[in-house]
Amino acid sequence: MNIKALKGFKDILPDEVGFWQLIEGTARDIFHRFGFAEIKVPILEKTELFARSIGEATDIVEKEMYTFADRNGKSLTMRPEGTAAVLRAFIEHNLQAKQPVQKLYTVGPMFRHERPQKGRLRQFHQLSCEVLGSDRPRLDAEVIAMAWLLINELGIKVSLEINSLGCPDCRPLFKDTLVEFLHQRAGKLCDDCERRRHTNPLRVLDCKNAHCQEQYVAAPSILDHLCSGCEEHFGTVKESLTQLEIPYQINSFMVRGLDYYNRTTFELITDALGAQSAVGAGGRYDGLVEQLGGPKLPGIGFAMGMERLVLLLQQQEEQGNTPSSDLFIAALGEEAQKLAFPILHGLRKTGLRAGMDVEGRSLKSQMKQAGRANAAFTLIIGEEELSNKVAILRNMGNREQEEISLPVDLLQWCTELTAKITTNQC
Ligand code: ATP
Ligand code: MG
Repeated sequence: MNIKALKGFKDILPDEVGFWQLIEGTARDIFHRFGFAEIKVPILEKTELFARSIGEATDIVEKEMYTFADRNGKSLTMRPEGTAAVLRAFIEHNLQAKQPVQKLYTVGPMFRHERPQKGRLRQFHQLSCEVLGSDRPRLDAEVIAMAWLLINELGIKVSLEINSLGCPDCRPLFKDTLVEFLHQRAGKLCDDCERRRHTNPLRVLDCKNAHCQEQYVAAPSILDHLCSGCEEHFGTVKESLTQLEIPYQINSFMVRGLDYYNRTTFELITDALGAQSAVGAGGRYDGLVEQLGGPKLPGIGFAMGMERLVLLLQQQEEQGNTPSSDLFIAALGEEAQKLAFPILHGLRKTGLRAGMDVEGRSLKSQMKQAGRANAAFTLIIGEEELSNKVAILRNMGNREQEEISLPVDLLQWCTELTAKITTNQC
């Protein structure tokens, strides 16, 4: 019997890898522009780290973690998210001594034992960013703006939802009001909400059950219970986003699944992936560094799900048919193949993603191959072209073609053709 990959664990095959590289490359570029530095942290940590940061009564800790005892009986967990491990490293290496405000990002796999579906895996990947050392509201807007810019540069359409969860001064009052409201509806809620009513009441608000949502229409809003400090903080976040012309919607039901958030929370939402609507999410966690045994430093961060970004890019490609290579060379017969061989190499050296059929088959079958390679252009060199010392350059998008002379000076020729093709694609 063949051995297959585990359920929810996915191979990323070559035809998909380009999207991953594009996302990671764009993200790194943008994160660096905003002054973030990369940190790499282990995949395996002590279970206690996640239980203490994410919260015992959260879905992640209650039922989604890959936790096991190692050979010495120590309880270890495959990281389900990035923040806890980055903060652990930040504290362990005393990074705050280096810079008053630290901006860190990390990229890599996360593990959650969930029910696999489109956009929901057991091993998935996140791009996650943390800023430690400031509680200024403009920083919240800056972090949201960075996530927004990344999504925009990738050409993906999402909407931004924001909320404030208050702080340890005002949230307990809201929690009491909410618990009272839920108490009056006891017996009318789904099993999860009945349970959370006692363990983690705020979480009921983002229950997906339509019947529960009907009940919650009349629920008290956290935004009516913010203390003056939180109100002002949230006011500046909103004002700063408006200043940057970033459109947002306020969703007072967005509570996030992790316990450590306070004040600003946000989500980037798509309607193109069914139930897996969150492409990225984050928020402020001012007490977390201290809670993990570090100094009293505020923080804010977010994480984006790379699988969901890839799915959106793939959907876009299907709709817009974005070329996945620049040029395909169709050289017919041995002589043309020989001539095309250094041209192919030259074009690759000067920056094109170029390919060729090394068998020198018929024009028809080579054009089919160019189609499969999803090339933007095809360069055709047949017998007739050879004798006329020309090649035909066909734009595969609009089917226009032109004759260009074959190279005398290979390098110069390749540079010129590369420039032409690159400009034509922009
Ligand atoms: P969801 O509501 O979809 O379960 P979440 O609130 O659990 O998301 P976070 O913990 O905030 O998600 O993680 C940030 C991002 O990571 C999500 O917005 C999503 O894009 C991605 N993500 C989370 N869980 C998964 C998963 N199991 N598979 C793929 N991507 C995921
Ligand atoms: Mg989840």
